[in-house]
Formats: sequence, structure tokens, C-alpha cells
Amino acid sequence: MPELQGVLDSSASTKDKIVRKKLEGFDLRGVERFCHLMKQEFLKITCTEVVSVNNGTRNLIVTILLILSLSLPACSHSPGEIHHPWETSLFENIRMPFELLEDTPYGDLAIQYIAFMNDNMNGRLAFTNREKEAAIWLIETLLTIGYTWENIKIQEFSDEIASDYWSQHDWFEEGYQTEAYSQNVILTVPGQSDQIIIVGAHYDSHPFPGASDNASGVALLLESAYRMLLLENYYTLVYVFFGAEEVGSAGSHYYVNALSDAERDNILFMINADALFEGPYLLYCADYVEQGKMSVSITVNAWNDIACRHNNLSDIEIIKFPDSSEMPFGDHKAFFEVGVPVVLLIGLDKRDNGEYWLRSPHLQHTPQDCMHYISETWDGKIDRAMLGFSIFLEEMLLHSY
Ligand SMILES: [Zn+2]
Repeated sequence: MPELQGVLDSSASTKDKIVRKKLEGFDLRGVERFCHLMKQEFLKITCTEVVSVNNGTRNLIVTILLILSLSLPACSHSPGEIHHPWETSLFENIRMPFELLEDTPYGDLAIQYIAFMNDNMNGRLAFTNREKEAAIWLIETLLTIGYTWENIKIQEFSDEIASDYWSQHDWFEEGYQTEAYSQNVILTVPGQSDQIIIVGAHYDSHPFPGASDNASGVALLLESAYRMLLLENYYTLVYVFFGAEEVGSAGSHYYVNALSDAERDNILFMINADALFEGPYLLYCADYVEQGKMSVSITVNAWNDIACRHNNLSDIEIIKFPDSSEMPFGDHKAFFEVGVPVVLLIGLDKRDNGEYWLRSPHLQHTPQDCMHYISETWDGKIDRAMLGFSIFLEEMLLHSY
């Protein structure tokens, strides 16, 4: 595969050397066509749409694509089967540049993750190779911060299975290669108790950088997962990076439907982080439905206490969304519908009449949902949101009862 080799030759990073080593002894004939397609796509998308790509990040993308192409042999399976081998050995020895130090302030690491996704993973469309690249990056990140394959599970689902939740978009234009599968990336952090808290965020996006929707939520989870390596968690924490949210929350519905009754009953509550910069107000919705009625549980009260405590200690206000029955759609819905208490973390704006709302100014699902645009337009908005939500999330994970 001369073209692929050309890409490798043009750079000399350690990563490329690692990939080059992995290529030795690997029979590439079966994936040659796939690699070729991937390379074409990589060049097309990154040259025209990514905000800024320096050589280092370009090398990383090439690496990701190589790993991706090696892990995707063309074959057909029936829905529900694991489609890709996700060769664990391909992820060995990969290092990420971000590090959590003892004095790293809350939110700082998350902001670095957002910047990386914003600049290198533009248009993570559901059921495309761009979404799969993001999944691979997530797995790499979890492995490099210290988790192992024992903690990580990839739950694939086909677009056939997802069709119930699928709404057709017109974004599958030239430059996006569709995939038959999307995937949830699941990280389990064992605790003393087998009872589970689920923390979710979707990593797919519209054909834009998706900084707020939803690199922000993904980054919040990554930082939190990193911090948990240094902390003691009582409950078992399950971080779920959902695929295919933008096509009807397919990933979260698939996840919930795949749970047994006992597994569902074992979930204490679910936290969903989505669209954290849609406005300057840091909000949370917390609810529980019992026999069709909104109800307040002991855990909901605990979260309210945590928010009060948080607000007393800092000048960053975390506000309870006043009417939770109007919670916006998202991955928490699938859990909510089966009676799991849910919390949604979201950044909203406020209308003159006092209502909180999602689309002012219009960021979500537009090209303005870009980290550079948001930082230039609203100084400090990203820092404030990530600081506030990062502390609040950790409190909820460690101090709920
Ligand atoms: Zn979203």
C-alpha cells in the first residue's frame, strides 16, 4: 500500500514508529482498500474543515486512522454481533499529552480534551467513520490515563437495531463514509458497593466541531474518570460514552434495552452531561418517575444538598432547573423512561421572562458550536462551566447516599 506508506514516511513521530512497528508482520491485503478509503477521507475532511491541525495532531490522526483501518476487516455479521475485533494489542504503548497532576485545577484537563476534540474530531456524525475515530480516541485516552481492558467494554449496535430511533439527516454528503455500526464505549470503575452510578455523555455530533454539544460532556467524564484513579469511590461507577445520540439517542436506548431487570434495578441513578456551554447558567435537572408521576427520592434530595453546599463554597452557582418535566431530550431519557432517577447537567441561557432555554444565542447544531468561537465571544464561559460542573459531578459521585 504505497500511499499509506507515503503518509508514514512524511513524518517521524514516535507514534508513527509505533504504528510502523505494528504494521510489520501484519497481513495488510485484507484491509488495503479500507485504508485507502480512510486516507482519502482523512485528507478531504481535515484539510477543509478542521479549525487548525498542526503536525503533531495530524500525526495522531494518521495513527488513529491506521489503527482504525487495521481493526476493521470487511465482513458481514447479523445485527447485535460484535462486528470489529478491536484488537487490544493495537492500543499498547500509546501516550496522550495530557496529564493530571495533584494541583491541576478542576476543569483544566477537561478543557484540554475539549480543545483536542474540537480541533481534530470535527463532525463526529453518527454511524460514520468520524464517529468511530472519536470512539478509538476515547479508548486510547482511557488506556493511557491508567485504565485497562478489564475496565473497558465496547458495545456495538447496528443501524438496523437503531432504526427505531433513527431520523434521517441530509448530512451524509461527500466526505463522510457511513458505517453500519456505532458503539457505546463503557468504562467501569469498581467501588466497594456493586450498586452502580452511570455517568453518560454522547460523543457523536452534527457536522461541526460540537464543542458544547457534546465535547464538553465527554471531556467532563474523561477528567472525572482520571480523577477517580486517585480517589476512593464507594459505588461502582460506569462511565458510558454514548454513540449516535444525534439520531434519536440510539446509543442510550440500546444500552438500556440490553440491561436485564436485575441490572436496571442495580442502577442507583444516571447522570447525563450534555451541551454544557449553551448559555452562561449552569443548571441541573434531577428527577425520578414513580408509577408515571414525578417524584422526589432520597437521592434527588442529596443532589440538591450538594448543589447548595457547592454554591455556598464557591461563587459559581449551580441552579436547579425549575420545571424538570420539560427536561430537554437526550441520553438520560432512556433511563428516565424505565424508572431510573436521572440528573442532567446542562448550560443554558435565560429569556427576559426568566425561562431557561437552549438556543440563545444559537450554538447547538451550528458551525458556531466551536471552542474558538465560544471563547472569543464569551470570555471565561468555558472555564467557568467546566470548573463548576467538574466539582459538582465529583461531589455527586462520591457523596450521594
Ligand atoms: Zn447533545
